[in-house]
Amino acid sequence: MQAACLCRVRPFDKLHSFTTVEGMKSQSPMPTPHNASRKPANKKLVAALLKWFAKEKRQLPWRATRDPYQIWIAEVMLQQTRVATVIPYYQRFLEIFPTVESLANAEDGVLMKAWEGLGYYARAQYLRDAAQTIVAQYNGKLPTSREALLQLKGFGAYTSASVASLAFNQDCAAVDGNVMRVLSRVFAIESDTRKPAAKREFQRIADALVPTGSAGQFNEALMDLGATVCKPKKPTCEACPLIRYCRAYQEGRVHELPLRSPQREIPHHHIAIGVVHKNGRVLIALRPKEGLLGNLWEFPGGKLKAEESLADCCRREVLEETNLEVEVGKCFSVVRHSFSHFRITLHAFHCRYERGRATSKWSQKIRWVKLSELADYAFPTANKKIIADLSANPRFTRD
Ligand code: SF4
Repeated sequence: MQAACLCRVRPFDKLHSFTTVEGMKSQSPMPTPHNASRKPANKKLVAALLKWFAKEKRQLPWRATRDPYQIWIAEVMLQQTRVATVIPYYQRFLEIFPTVESLANAEDGVLMKAWEGLGYYARAQYLRDAAQTIVAQYNGKLPTSREALLQLKGFGAYTSASVASLAFNQDCAAVDGNVMRVLSRVFAIESDTRKPAAKREFQRIADALVPTGSAGQFNEALMDLGATVCKPKKPTCEACPLIRYCRAYQEGRVHELPLRSPQREIPHHHIAIGVVHKNGRVLIALRPKEGLLGNLWEFPGGKLKAEESLADCCRREVLEETNLEVEVGKCFSVVRHSFSHFRITLHAFHCRYERGRATSKWSQKIRWVKLSELADYAFPTANKKIIADLSANPRFTRD
């Protein structure tokens, strides 16, 4: 009896007839995701991928090093944003924190300033937590196995596998959204890539494809292919080294895959922000260490309630958060921003201090600073936009 399928693929024959790019009929064994490493077709697929990578690989700063610490920093940053954005962050971060020890001893403000603008700020704190464990338990050297790395704060399946393979040549696959897209197309896998079960399925398939002793190259090759050729929209199949192995291409289903269930509707909140002016300074507050945007500075403010005007919301939030009574003036900046599970629109108002002694009711601390000093503090991206607008309209004005 045949074993149950792990993934839903079309029931292809081992020998599959297809039309090549040149339009010629060909008989060629198609790869399948089952027992992936043992199939000759899969070996050819991996060989074609590695050959392409040897010629086309992107020259990136973290590929010029074998230092596990530097590879780790790059891999975490690459989960945040695009390669081009990561490069200057990566270089600056390593100038500030050149070693595991220096990261382990990082001060909050310096760490958050180095990460400012990258998003997912908890990851910066996890980096430091993990660095402290590496110093305390591993004499400052990253452990070499995927399993040991997985025990460190902030190391999920992807980071553990990518560091283990790239830095220590361990035979494991690093599977992210790019890799799932490529594999779902190559093998015509119809699993919903938003589902955890699908992620485990792709991990099994990718692990089985890893060529012994070349996991780092294999992972980088798949990542590069997903980023530069097998892109989400308009993949350039004609330039793809896997074209003759790719079921989605052969079946004309490239744009159907990967399958992703629709996202639930994302809530949208309006937030009133008060920039409180007093004697040439403005008030800023340090958010709690834990939670969203932890350890970042911000202007006081909060969520609009039903039946409330934005100006009233601003006055109420400033009072609730800082104990200050203010005159609310002109709204000088409107900023839209998206998080993974909700969107916000920030409405920033000039506010003039009237009375009260500022206290940090909700934040870790509060501080009156000159506008010229704001650049010394780490703010969330949306607040940075408000600061840019504030620089253009620095004085309190009424509507
Ligand atoms: S042939 Fe096209 S769809 Fe298939 S892996 Fe290559 S780029 Fe992706």
